[in-house]
Formats: sequence, structure tokens, C-alpha cells
Amino acid sequence: MKNNLQNSNISIEKKIDWKVVQSNMKKKLGQDIFESWLKKIELIEEFNNYVLISVSTRFIRDWITSRYLDQILQIIKEYNKNITRIEFVIEDQNNNNSKSFENDLEQNNKNSIKDNVSFIKDSFLQYNRIDPNKNFDNFVTGPSNKLAFEASKKVSQDISHYNPLYLYGGVGMGKTHLLNSIGLSLKKINKVMFISAERFMYQFVKSIKANEMVKFKEYFRNTDILLIDDIQFMNGKEAMQEEFFHTFNALIEKGSQIIVSADRPPNKLTRIQERIKSRFSGGLVVDIQNPDYELRYKIIKSKIDELELFYSNQINITKETQEFISNEIRTSIRELVGALNRIVSFSRIYNKVPSLSEVRVILKDLLNLTENKVTIDFIQTIVCKFFKISKNEMLSPRRSRYLVRPRQTAIYLSKMLTSKSLPEIGRSFSNRDHTTVIHSVKTIEKLRKEDNELNINIDSLKNKILYNQENEI
Ligand code: ADP
Ligand code: MG
Repeated sequence: MKNNLQNSNISIEKKIDWKVVQSNMKKKLGQDIFESWLKKIELIEEFNNYVLISVSTRFIRDWITSRYLDQILQIIKEYNKNITRIEFVIEDQNNNNSKSFENDLEQNNKNSIKDNVSFIKDSFLQYNRIDPNKNFDNFVTGPSNKLAFEASKKVSQDISHYNPLYLYGGVGMGKTHLLNSIGLSLKKINKVMFISAERFMYQFVKSIKANEMVKFKEYFRNTDILLIDDIQFMNGKEAMQEEFFHTFNALIEKGSQIIVSADRPPNKLTRIQERIKSRFSGGLVVDIQNPDYELRYKIIKSKIDELELFYSNQINITKETQEFISNEIRTSIRELVGALNRIVSFSRIYNKVPSLSEVRVILKDLLNLTENKVTIDFIQTIVCKFFKISKNEMLSPRRSRYLVRPRQTAIYLSKMLTSKSLPEIGRSFSNRDHTTVIHSVKTIEKLRKEDNELNINIDSLKNKILYNQENEI
């Protein structure tokens, strides 16, 4: 079926390509919103007139529903007009590891087909956007990024002092922010071109097809400042690398400044010609390392200050929470900022200062490591102790009232605090059916709204489970 697609003209049933939808969401809603809310949602299944999408928590579902659903639907409709609504399932994505390789393969297949079918209209200029909100002033520095920051400032003052400047570091470490800051400060008096390597390749191929290579060359060779982001994605054919190399040399010769970012040092780049790598190494190469706790905390503080300006001092995030996220979210600054945005949004919609256990839930999918320490067995132990029943009683089929509520509570907490699927949870409760699990979760959710005492008990249980502490909070 797939092979036929490329050769036939009969109308093909378009399947939604989630990667393309994601990349459109990123474009339409902005990287920050995408990172905070949309990156981890997955397409589960496409039906005739609706799609099923998974999210990791109820909170994220509600947030997405209230803010972005229309736009997401519009994007999906571009690929399948018949889709009229989006349905959610709340599922943890952590359980799908074994399948991900297959998914990748399948995804690649779909992509290559899609590339032949769709064609996106755009111009060079559309991709030369510089974000005024990412500047030197709001770039927070610490030992891990100080050199990169200094070097970036330096090239913004003395053009071609370090040429090229090559910045590298892991995902979400601030490379694009720095490139953007350089562009921003230089564009007042220079012709600045800011483009990702992927875009560069795309434009290159498009120009060849459209017979517009002359324009392409002129366009790039005319800039004073060329900022190329994520050069590791440059994996084009010889002809393209050839063109890039010539552009590069021509620019350096005429005294233009080139700044390149990558996720690795020049000598570790694969699929890039040796002579290009060696030109990269010929300038100044600086890395950005993982931020330490102090820097993470400083960044949180600085983002909160920014948000307070924006929301006129209505941001109320406890110091404890600030320390908690600075401590827990270590993988990248992007994730750190994304986590803060989520908490701020929560606090704004529910109009309250989130407690630490709420923060745990809001950030559930980002706190994988900690979360995995919580086992269903442990939850059962704590819940049994709290309600003064034995584990045998909890797991028994008996339906006496004094056993049902604790059992439902333990099931509910297992769903909330672990990444286990419904059937897995059912199995841990003497092979109960997953519908029983759903029923328990729903019952407790409903009761939490009506029964304050139960609500307090559950919060207190949650704290005990998450912090392994026995004293009341
Ligand atoms: P990269 O390009 O390295 O993947 P980005 O530059 O896109 O990372 O940074 C991710 C997010 O983190 C952006 O929102 C950026 O503004 C923010 N950020 C990164 N480093 C810093 C920093 N030192 N100070 C303030 N914000 C930062
Ligand atoms: Mg980047």
C-alpha cells in the first residue's frame, strides 16, 4: 500500500503525520508553548472524524483544551478535513519504550512519502525571524555558560574578531538564545541572516528545483552576519556542502561574521566534509555545559521576575517550589523554564499557590526518575497503614465498606503517582479488571470535590508516599 502511494495519482487517503503536525504546532504556537505543553502529547489513533490523543495528566489535558485545542484542530484539519474533534486519553508515555524503535521507522517512512506529496510555501524572510525576547539582558550566566556568553558579546562588538564563532552544547542549553541575542544586537546596522541548518538545506534544495540558485547565492553572500543554528542537522549532498563551503569562504573573505551552533564539537560532526569541520575549528570554539544548581535557581528567579512584570505581580510560587524545580529539573534549561511555565499557568487558572504535591503532579512527566521510585506496593503499604487495614484485606475480593474506600484510594494514587498503565495497576490489585481501576479513579476524583476530609487525607497520603515521610504535613 505504501509503495503504491508514490507512483499512483489516485486520491490517496492521507494519514496524519504527527511529526508534521507537531512541527506546525511549534511554528504556530511558538517554541515555548510547544515545549511546555505540547511536545509530549501523542497521536494514538486517527478515526473517521476524530483523533485520539494521549496526554500524561488531566491537568495538561484541561490546559490544552482551554487554550490550544482550536488551533491544534485547525492544524490537524489541514491534513484531514474530516476531523471535527479531538479526544483525549490520559496515559503515561513511559510505557511505550519497546515500541519506539518501530514507531521511528514507521515515522520515517511516512515522512519520506509526505515530503514528496506536500509542499510548503514560504520565503527566505519568513525564517529570518529574530525574537526580541531572547536577548543578552535576559540571558542568565553561571560558570557553565559564561564563556559562550562573553564570546557572543564580543562578536557583537567587534565583528570578525573570532571568526567563525562556534558554540556547542546539549539541547535546551541556550544556544539559540545566544545566537538570537547576537542577531538582535547586530541587526540595527548590519544585514543579519539567522537560519537553522535544516532551513538552509531546505532552501537550497528548493532553489535548485526552482532554478533559482543565483538568487540563493546572492541572498546568502550578501549578508554581513550569518547565524546558522543546529549545524549538526546539515547532512546534505555533496553539491550542497560545496555551496555552503563556498558561501562560508566568501563571507569570511569579505569580513562578514559567521556564528554557528551545534550540539557537539566540530570534530564530532558526522556527514559533514572534513574541510568544513576544519574551518569551524579555525575560529573560536566554545561549549555550554549543563547548568549547576545555582544557575538553575538564578534562571528560575529571573523568569519569575519577567513573569511578574508581565502579570503585574500576580505570580505566587513558593520558595520551596522554586528550589524544588531547580533541584529536580536538570536536563535542560528549556525544560526548566517549561516546568515553571506550567506551574505558573496552574496557579493562574486555579487561582492558588500550588503546593509541593500539586507541583509533583503538574510536572509528573518531567520527574521521571523520582517518580519511578514510587511503587504500587509502597502505595498499598502506606494506604493500608493509614486506614489500619491489612494488605490481605485490601487485596481480597471483599467489598465491605471499610475496605472499598481504602482500596479505591490506593488505586487512585497508583494512577496518579506511578507511570503504570490501567491494566498493570489492575494486576497489582489481585488481577482486577482495568475497568475497576477506571471506576475507582473516577469515584475518588468525584469524592475529592465533595468531601473535604477525604481530600485532606489524600493529600496527606500523597505527601507520605512522595517524600517517604511518615509525619503529617
Ligand atoms: P538550545 O538552542 O541550546 O537548544 P535555547 O536557546 O532554545 O536552547 O534555550 C531554551 C530555553 O531556555 C529558551 O526559552 C531560552 O530563552 C532559555 N534559556 C536558555 N539559557 C538561558 C539562560 N542562560 N538564561 C535565561 N534563559 C535561558
Ligand atoms: Mg536551539
